[in-house]
Amino acid sequence: MTVTKNASLLKHNTFGIEATAAAWAEYDSENELRQLLTLVEEGQLPRPLLHVGAGSNLLFLADYAGTVLHSRIGGVEVLAETPEEVLVRVGSGMVFDRFVEYAVACGWHGLENLSLVPGEVGGAAVQNIGAYGVEAADFIERVEGVWLADGHRDEWPKTACDYSYRHSIFKSKLRAEIAVTAVTFRLSKVFSPRLDYGGLRKAMAEQGLDEARLSPQQLRELVISIRRSKLPDPQVLGNAGSFFMNPVVEAAAYERLLASYPAMPCYPLPDGRVKVPAAWLIERAGWKGRQMGPAAVHDRQALVLVNRGGATGRDILRLSDAVREAVRQQFGIDLQPEVNMIGSASL
Ligand SMILES: Cc1cc2nc3c(=O)[nH]c(=O)nc-3n(C[C@H](O)[C@H](O)[C@H](O)COP(=O)(O)OP(=O)(O)OC[C@H]3O[C@@H](n4cnc5c(N)ncnc54)[C@H](O)[C@@H]3O)c2cc1C
Repeated sequence: MTVTKNASLLKHNTFGIEATAAAWAEYDSENELRQLLTLVEEGQLPRPLLHVGAGSNLLFLADYAGTVLHSRIGGVEVLAETPEEVLVRVGSGMVFDRFVEYAVACGWHGLENLSLVPGEVGGAAVQNIGAYGVEAADFIERVEGVWLADGHRDEWPKTACDYSYRHSIFKSKLRAEIAVTAVTFRLSKVFSPRLDYGGLRKAMAEQGLDEARLSPQQLRELVISIRRSKLPDPQVLGNAGSFFMNPVVEAAAYERLLASYPAMPCYPLPDGRVKVPAAWLIERAGWKGRQMGPAAVHDRQALVLVNRGGATGRDILRLSDAVREAVRQQFGIDLQPEVNMIGSASL
Protein backbone atom coordinates (compact mmCIF):
# COMPACT_ATOMS: atom_id res chain seq x y z
CA MET A 1 0.00 0.00 0.00
CA THR A 2 1.15 3.58 -0.52
CA VAL A 3 0.17 6.85 1.11
CA THR A 4 1.07 10.26 -0.30
CA LYS A 5 0.33 13.44 1.62
CA ASN A 6 -0.62 16.62 -0.32
CA ALA A 7 -0.96 14.63 -3.51
CA SER A 8 -1.73 16.10 -6.92
CA LEU A 9 -4.93 14.70 -8.44
CA LEU A 10 -4.03 15.85 -11.95
CA LYS A 11 -3.15 12.34 -13.15
CA HIS A 12 -6.16 10.90 -11.36
CA ASN A 13 -8.95 12.66 -13.27
CA THR A 14 -9.47 12.56 -17.02
CA PHE A 15 -10.76 16.16 -17.03
CA GLY A 16 -7.16 17.14 -16.30
CA ILE A 17 -8.16 19.37 -13.39
CA GLU A 18 -5.33 20.45 -11.11
CA ALA A 19 -6.43 19.81 -7.54
CA THR A 20 -4.73 18.31 -4.51
CA ALA A 21 -5.84 15.82 -1.90
CA ALA A 22 -4.66 16.07 1.69
CA ALA A 23 -3.83 12.36 1.30
CA TRP A 24 -3.86 9.82 -1.53
CA ALA A 25 -3.90 6.20 -0.33
CA GLU A 26 -3.73 3.07 -2.50
CA TYR A 27 -4.22 -0.52 -1.36
CA ASP A 28 -3.57 -3.91 -2.94
CA SER A 29 -5.84 -6.08 -0.80
CA GLU A 30 -8.81 -5.87 1.55
CA ASN A 31 -6.43 -6.22 4.49
CA GLU A 32 -4.40 -3.22 3.35
CA LEU A 33 -7.61 -1.25 2.99
CA ARG A 34 -8.47 -2.13 6.59
CA GLN A 35 -5.01 -0.93 7.69
CA LEU A 36 -5.68 2.39 5.94
CA LEU A 37 -9.06 2.66 7.67
CA THR A 38 -7.29 2.09 11.01
CA LEU A 39 -4.93 5.00 10.19
CA VAL A 40 -8.02 7.12 9.52
CA GLU A 41 -9.55 5.97 12.81
CA GLU A 42 -6.35 6.92 14.64
CA GLY A 43 -6.33 10.37 13.05
CA GLN A 44 -3.15 9.72 11.02
CA LEU A 45 -5.09 10.12 7.77
CA PRO A 46 -7.66 12.89 7.45
CA ARG A 47 -11.38 12.51 6.90
CA PRO A 48 -13.59 12.69 4.90
CA LEU A 49 -12.96 9.70 2.65
CA LEU A 50 -13.48 9.58 -1.09
CA HIS A 51 -12.98 6.40 -3.10
CA VAL A 52 -12.04 6.83 -6.73
CA GLY A 53 -11.24 4.60 -9.67
CA ALA A 54 -9.50 6.02 -12.74
CA GLY A 55 -11.22 9.39 -12.27
CA SER A 56 -12.97 9.21 -15.65
CA ASN A 57 -16.29 10.39 -14.25
CA LEU A 58 -15.19 12.94 -11.67
CA LEU A 59 -15.05 16.71 -11.55
CA PHE A 60 -12.96 18.19 -8.74
CA LEU A 61 -14.45 21.57 -7.83
CA ALA A 62 -11.82 22.28 -5.18
CA ASP A 63 -8.90 20.69 -3.38
CA TYR A 64 -9.95 17.67 -1.33
CA ALA A 65 -9.38 18.11 2.39
CA GLY A 66 -9.58 14.41 3.25
CA THR A 67 -8.14 11.08 2.07
CA VAL A 68 -8.71 9.78 -1.45
CA LEU A 69 -8.68 5.97 -1.57
CA HIS A 70 -7.85 3.92 -4.65
CA SER A 71 -7.97 0.15 -5.17
CA ARG A 72 -5.12 -1.65 -6.91
CA ILE A 73 -6.77 -5.03 -6.40
CA GLY A 74 -6.49 -6.89 -9.68
CA GLY A 75 -6.92 -10.48 -10.78
CA VAL A 76 -9.45 -12.50 -12.71
CA GLU A 77 -10.69 -15.72 -11.11
CA VAL A 78 -13.07 -18.24 -12.67
CA LEU A 79 -15.54 -19.26 -9.96
CA ALA A 80 -17.68 -21.66 -12.00
CA GLU A 81 -17.99 -22.76 -15.56
CA THR A 82 -20.44 -24.72 -17.73
CA PRO A 83 -20.34 -25.31 -21.50
CA GLU A 84 -22.69 -22.30 -21.84
CA GLU A 85 -21.38 -19.73 -19.38
CA VAL A 86 -18.74 -18.65 -16.92
CA LEU A 87 -18.84 -16.90 -13.55
CA VAL A 88 -15.77 -14.73 -13.20
CA ARG A 89 -14.62 -12.58 -10.27
CA VAL A 90 -12.54 -9.51 -11.08
CA GLY A 91 -10.59 -7.16 -8.79
CA SER A 92 -12.01 -3.65 -8.60
CA GLY A 93 -8.72 -1.98 -9.57
CA MET A 94 -8.42 -3.71 -12.94
CA VAL A 95 -8.83 -1.41 -15.93
CA PHE A 96 -12.27 -2.28 -17.26
CA ASP A 97 -11.19 -2.46 -20.89
CA ARG A 98 -8.28 -4.79 -20.02
CA PHE A 99 -10.91 -7.13 -18.60
CA VAL A 100 -13.09 -6.83 -21.72
CA GLU A 101 -10.04 -7.58 -23.88
CA TYR A 102 -9.20 -10.61 -21.72
CA ALA A 103 -12.82 -11.85 -21.75
CA VAL A 104 -12.98 -11.64 -25.56
CA ALA A 105 -9.70 -13.55 -25.82
CA CYS A 106 -11.06 -16.26 -23.48
CA GLY A 107 -14.29 -16.65 -25.48
CA TRP A 108 -16.48 -15.11 -22.74
CA HIS A 109 -19.11 -12.90 -24.30
CA GLY A 110 -21.43 -10.02 -23.55
CA LEU A 111 -19.14 -7.10 -22.80
CA GLU A 112 -17.89 -6.44 -26.36
CA ASN A 113 -20.13 -3.37 -26.78
CA LEU A 114 -18.53 -1.84 -23.66
CA SER A 115 -15.05 -1.95 -25.19
CA LEU A 116 -12.89 1.09 -24.48
CA VAL A 117 -15.20 2.63 -21.87
CA PRO A 118 -12.60 4.25 -19.60
CA GLY A 119 -12.27 3.48 -15.92
CA GLU A 120 -11.82 0.49 -13.67
CA VAL A 121 -13.97 -2.51 -12.81
CA GLY A 122 -15.08 -1.00 -9.46
CA GLY A 123 -16.11 2.24 -11.14
CA ALA A 124 -18.00 0.30 -13.83
CA ALA A 125 -20.09 -1.43 -11.15
CA VAL A 126 -20.76 1.83 -9.28
CA GLN A 127 -21.68 3.75 -12.42
CA ASN A 128 -23.45 0.91 -14.23
CA ILE A 129 -21.64 1.92 -17.40
CA GLY A 130 -23.47 1.54 -20.66
CA ALA A 131 -22.74 1.81 -24.36
CA TYR A 132 -24.28 0.55 -27.61
CA GLY A 133 -27.32 -0.97 -25.94
CA VAL A 134 -25.43 -2.89 -23.24
CA GLU A 135 -25.07 -2.09 -19.53
CA ALA A 136 -22.59 -3.53 -17.05
CA ALA A 137 -25.53 -4.56 -14.86
CA ASP A 138 -26.70 -6.96 -17.62
CA PHE A 139 -23.69 -9.14 -16.74
CA ILE A 140 -22.98 -8.37 -13.07
CA GLU A 141 -23.81 -11.21 -10.70
CA ARG A 142 -22.50 -9.78 -7.44
CA VAL A 143 -20.51 -6.86 -6.04
CA GLU A 144 -18.15 -7.23 -3.07
CA GLY A 145 -17.06 -4.37 -0.88
CA VAL A 146 -15.84 -3.12 2.45
CA TRP A 147 -17.70 -0.65 4.66
CA LEU A 148 -15.52 2.43 5.13
CA ALA A 149 -17.02 3.07 8.58
CA ASP A 150 -15.76 -0.14 10.22
CA GLY A 151 -13.90 -2.19 7.58
CA HIS A 152 -16.31 -5.12 7.52
CA ARG A 153 -16.73 -7.06 4.34
CA ASP A 154 -20.06 -7.41 2.60
CA GLU A 155 -21.54 -8.43 -0.72
CA TRP A 156 -24.50 -7.36 -2.80
CA PRO A 157 -26.18 -9.73 -5.25
CA LYS A 158 -27.22 -7.90 -8.40
CA THR A 159 -30.82 -7.68 -7.16
CA ALA A 160 -29.60 -5.62 -4.16
CA CYS A 161 -27.59 -3.20 -6.31
CA ASP A 162 -30.66 -1.20 -7.45
CA TYR A 163 -29.34 -0.96 -10.99
CA SER A 164 -30.96 1.26 -13.60
CA TYR A 165 -29.70 3.68 -16.25
CA ARG A 166 -26.27 4.92 -14.98
CA HIS A 167 -27.47 4.27 -11.44
CA SER A 168 -26.67 1.90 -8.59
CA ILE A 169 -27.10 1.75 -4.84
CA PHE A 170 -23.38 2.61 -4.58
CA LYS A 171 -24.06 5.96 -6.27
CA SER A 172 -27.11 6.75 -4.16
CA LYS A 173 -27.97 5.23 -0.77
CA LEU A 174 -24.47 3.87 -0.17
CA ARG A 175 -22.60 6.78 -1.74
CA ALA A 176 -19.24 7.31 -0.02
CA GLU A 177 -19.90 4.39 2.36
CA ILE A 178 -18.41 1.42 0.50
CA ALA A 179 -15.13 0.53 -1.16
CA VAL A 180 -15.97 -1.87 -3.98
CA THR A 181 -13.26 -4.54 -3.94
CA ALA A 182 -14.41 -7.14 -6.50
CA VAL A 183 -17.14 -7.70 -9.06
CA THR A 184 -18.42 -11.05 -10.31
CA PHE A 185 -19.68 -11.21 -13.91
CA ARG A 186 -21.79 -13.94 -15.53
CA LEU A 187 -20.64 -14.15 -19.15
CA SER A 188 -21.82 -16.34 -21.99
CA LYS A 189 -19.73 -18.74 -23.99
CA VAL A 190 -22.20 -18.37 -26.84
CA PHE A 191 -21.66 -15.24 -28.90
CA SER A 192 -24.96 -13.44 -29.62
CA PRO A 193 -23.97 -9.93 -30.62
CA ARG A 194 -26.21 -6.97 -29.86
CA LEU A 195 -26.13 -4.78 -32.93
CA ASP A 196 -29.34 -2.76 -32.79
CA TYR A 197 -27.98 0.39 -31.23
CA GLY A 198 -25.84 3.43 -31.94
CA GLY A 199 -25.25 2.84 -35.63
CA LEU A 200 -23.39 -0.46 -35.18
CA ARG A 201 -25.05 -2.06 -38.23
CA LYS A 202 -24.35 1.02 -40.36
CA ALA A 203 -20.68 0.99 -39.31
CA MET A 204 -20.52 -2.74 -40.08
CA ALA A 205 -21.84 -2.13 -43.57
CA GLU A 206 -19.33 0.70 -44.08
CA GLN A 207 -16.48 -1.58 -43.01
CA GLY A 208 -17.77 -4.45 -45.18
CA LEU A 209 -18.44 -6.73 -42.20
CA ASP A 210 -20.90 -9.58 -42.63
CA GLU A 211 -23.23 -9.97 -39.64
CA ALA A 212 -23.50 -13.74 -40.06
CA ARG A 213 -19.73 -14.11 -39.78
CA LEU A 214 -19.00 -11.36 -37.28
CA SER A 215 -16.50 -12.47 -34.64
CA PRO A 216 -16.38 -11.12 -31.05
CA GLN A 217 -12.97 -9.57 -31.78
CA GLN A 218 -14.38 -7.82 -34.87
CA LEU A 219 -17.28 -6.43 -32.82
CA ARG A 220 -14.83 -5.17 -30.20
CA GLU A 221 -12.66 -3.51 -32.84
CA LEU A 222 -15.74 -1.98 -34.50
CA VAL A 223 -16.89 -0.44 -31.21
CA ILE A 224 -13.37 0.85 -30.55
CA SER A 225 -13.11 2.44 -33.98
CA ILE A 226 -16.50 4.17 -33.64
CA ARG A 227 -15.64 5.46 -30.18
CA ARG A 228 -12.24 6.76 -31.34
CA SER A 229 -13.89 8.61 -34.23
CA LYS A 230 -16.57 10.23 -32.05
CA LEU A 231 -15.14 10.90 -28.61
CA PRO A 232 -12.21 13.12 -27.67
CA ASP A 233 -9.22 11.31 -26.18
CA PRO A 234 -8.78 12.56 -22.59
CA GLN A 235 -4.99 12.37 -23.07
CA VAL A 236 -5.36 15.09 -25.68
CA LEU A 237 -8.44 17.02 -24.51
CA GLY A 238 -9.53 16.63 -20.89
CA ASN A 239 -13.08 15.34 -20.51
CA ALA A 240 -15.20 12.84 -18.59
CA GLY A 241 -17.27 11.41 -21.44
CA SER A 242 -20.97 12.30 -21.40
CA PHE A 243 -21.35 15.13 -18.95
CA PHE A 244 -25.15 14.86 -18.78
CA MET A 245 -27.56 11.96 -18.61
CA ASN A 246 -30.17 11.57 -21.31
CA PRO A 247 -33.39 12.92 -19.75
CA VAL A 248 -36.44 10.70 -19.44
CA VAL A 249 -39.75 12.53 -19.93
CA GLU A 250 -43.40 11.51 -19.49
CA ALA A 251 -45.20 10.56 -22.71
CA ALA A 252 -47.53 13.60 -22.50
CA ALA A 253 -44.59 15.99 -22.12
CA TYR A 254 -42.85 14.33 -25.05
CA GLU A 255 -45.98 14.75 -27.23
CA ARG A 256 -46.05 18.46 -26.37
CA LEU A 257 -42.37 18.84 -27.29
CA LEU A 258 -42.86 16.88 -30.48
CA ALA A 259 -45.51 19.37 -31.61
CA SER A 260 -42.86 22.12 -31.52
CA TYR A 261 -39.90 19.96 -32.60
CA PRO A 262 -41.12 17.25 -34.97
CA ALA A 263 -37.54 16.09 -35.68
CA MET A 264 -36.78 15.45 -32.02
CA PRO A 265 -35.28 11.94 -31.72
CA CYS A 266 -36.41 9.64 -28.93
CA TYR A 267 -36.11 6.17 -27.42
CA PRO A 268 -39.45 4.90 -26.05
CA LEU A 269 -39.06 3.03 -22.76
CA PRO A 270 -41.10 -0.02 -21.69
CA ASP A 271 -42.89 2.01 -18.97
CA GLY A 272 -44.35 4.44 -21.53
CA ARG A 273 -41.90 7.24 -20.83
CA VAL A 274 -39.46 8.50 -23.45
CA LYS A 275 -35.69 9.00 -23.33
CA VAL A 276 -34.51 12.06 -25.26
CA PRO A 277 -30.86 12.44 -26.37
CA ALA A 278 -29.34 15.25 -24.29
CA ALA A 279 -26.83 15.90 -27.10
CA TRP A 280 -29.68 16.82 -29.46
CA LEU A 281 -31.19 19.22 -26.90
CA ILE A 282 -27.81 20.90 -26.31
CA GLU A 283 -27.13 21.22 -30.02
CA ARG A 284 -30.60 22.67 -30.70
CA ALA A 285 -30.10 25.11 -27.83
CA GLY A 286 -27.07 26.38 -29.74
CA TRP A 287 -24.32 25.18 -27.39
CA LYS A 288 -22.48 22.61 -29.51
CA GLY A 289 -18.87 23.80 -29.90
CA ARG A 290 -19.35 26.90 -27.72
CA GLN A 291 -16.64 27.96 -25.33
CA MET A 292 -16.67 29.76 -21.97
CA GLY A 293 -13.12 30.62 -20.99
CA PRO A 294 -11.04 27.43 -20.95
CA ALA A 295 -14.14 25.18 -20.87
CA ALA A 296 -16.06 24.20 -24.00
CA VAL A 297 -18.83 22.00 -25.35
CA HIS A 298 -17.11 19.58 -27.72
CA ASP A 299 -17.62 20.50 -31.38
CA ARG A 300 -18.34 16.91 -32.52
CA GLN A 301 -20.23 15.56 -29.49
CA ALA A 302 -22.42 18.07 -27.63
CA LEU A 303 -22.80 15.79 -24.61
CA VAL A 304 -19.11 16.11 -23.82
CA LEU A 305 -17.69 19.13 -21.97
CA VAL A 306 -13.96 19.59 -22.43
CA ASN A 307 -11.06 21.29 -20.70
CA ARG A 308 -9.25 23.23 -23.40
CA GLY A 309 -6.31 23.73 -21.07
CA GLY A 310 -5.98 25.06 -17.55
CA ALA A 311 -9.68 24.91 -16.68
CA THR A 312 -10.66 24.59 -13.05
CA GLY A 313 -13.58 22.50 -11.87
CA ARG A 314 -15.51 25.74 -11.36
CA ASP A 315 -14.93 26.72 -15.03
CA ILE A 316 -16.47 23.42 -16.13
CA LEU A 317 -19.33 23.85 -13.65
CA ARG A 318 -20.09 27.37 -14.94
CA LEU A 319 -20.32 26.02 -18.48
CA SER A 320 -22.50 23.14 -17.31
CA ASP A 321 -24.85 25.60 -15.54
CA ALA A 322 -25.09 27.75 -18.69
CA VAL A 323 -25.89 24.71 -20.88
CA ARG A 324 -28.51 23.46 -18.40
CA GLU A 325 -30.14 26.89 -18.23
CA ALA A 326 -30.32 27.15 -22.03
CA VAL A 327 -31.92 23.70 -22.32
CA ARG A 328 -34.33 24.47 -19.45
CA GLN A 329 -35.38 27.76 -21.12
CA GLN A 330 -35.95 26.22 -24.54
CA PHE A 331 -37.36 22.78 -23.71
CA GLY A 332 -38.42 22.93 -20.05
CA ILE A 333 -36.10 19.97 -19.35
CA ASP A 334 -33.60 20.01 -16.48
CA LEU A 335 -30.51 18.08 -17.58
CA GLN A 336 -28.88 16.10 -14.77
CA PRO A 337 -25.09 15.77 -14.73
CA GLU A 338 -23.78 12.21 -15.00
CA VAL A 339 -20.35 13.30 -13.76
CA ASN A 340 -19.69 13.11 -10.01
CA MET A 341 -18.89 16.56 -8.67
CA ILE A 342 -16.38 16.50 -5.82
CA GLY A 343 -16.03 19.61 -3.72
CA SER A 344 -17.98 21.91 -1.52
CA ALA A 345 -21.12 21.38 -3.61
CA SER A 346 -21.31 17.64 -2.80
CA LEU A 347 -18.99 15.32 -0.87
C1 LIG B 1 -13.75 9.58 -23.02
C2 LIG B 1 -14.75 8.98 -22.08
C3 LIG B 1 -15.76 8.19 -22.56
C4 LIG B 1 -16.71 7.63 -21.69
N1 LIG B 1 -17.69 6.82 -22.21
C5 LIG B 1 -18.58 6.26 -21.39
C6 LIG B 1 -19.59 5.37 -21.91
O1 LIG B 1 -19.64 5.09 -23.11
N2 LIG B 1 -20.49 4.85 -21.04
C7 LIG B 1 -20.45 5.12 -19.70
O2 LIG B 1 -21.30 4.61 -18.98
N3 LIG B 1 -19.50 5.93 -19.18
C8 LIG B 1 -18.56 6.50 -19.99
N4 LIG B 1 -17.61 7.33 -19.47
C9 LIG B 1 -17.58 7.60 -18.03
C10 LIG B 1 -16.64 6.65 -17.24
O3 LIG B 1 -15.86 5.91 -18.12
C11 LIG B 1 -17.43 5.69 -16.35
O4 LIG B 1 -18.32 6.37 -15.49
C12 LIG B 1 -16.49 4.80 -15.51
O5 LIG B 1 -17.21 3.73 -14.96
C13 LIG B 1 -15.81 5.54 -14.37
O6 LIG B 1 -14.90 4.62 -13.78
P1 LIG B 1 -13.68 5.12 -12.94
O7 LIG B 1 -12.93 3.93 -12.48
O8 LIG B 1 -12.91 6.13 -13.71
O9 LIG B 1 -14.44 5.80 -11.72
P2 LIG B 1 -14.26 7.27 -11.13
O10 LIG B 1 -14.57 8.28 -12.18
O11 LIG B 1 -12.96 7.37 -10.43
O12 LIG B 1 -15.44 7.28 -10.05
C14 LIG B 1 -16.78 7.26 -10.46
C15 LIG B 1 -17.66 7.02 -9.23
O13 LIG B 1 -17.45 5.72 -8.75
C16 LIG B 1 -16.95 5.74 -7.40
N5 LIG B 1 -15.94 4.67 -7.34
C17 LIG B 1 -15.00 4.35 -8.26
N6 LIG B 1 -14.33 3.25 -7.91
C18 LIG B 1 -14.86 2.84 -6.73
C19 LIG B 1 -14.60 1.74 -5.85
N7 LIG B 1 -13.68 0.81 -6.12
N8 LIG B 1 -15.31 1.67 -4.71
C20 LIG B 1 -16.27 2.59 -4.41
N9 LIG B 1 -16.56 3.63 -5.21
C21 LIG B 1 -15.86 3.75 -6.36
C22 LIG B 1 -16.39 7.14 -7.19
O14 LIG B 1 -16.49 7.54 -5.85
C23 LIG B 1 -17.33 7.96 -8.06
O15 LIG B 1 -18.53 8.24 -7.38
C24 LIG B 1 -16.64 7.89 -20.31
C25 LIG B 1 -15.60 8.69 -19.81
C26 LIG B 1 -14.65 9.23 -20.68
C27 LIG B 1 -13.54 10.07 -20.14
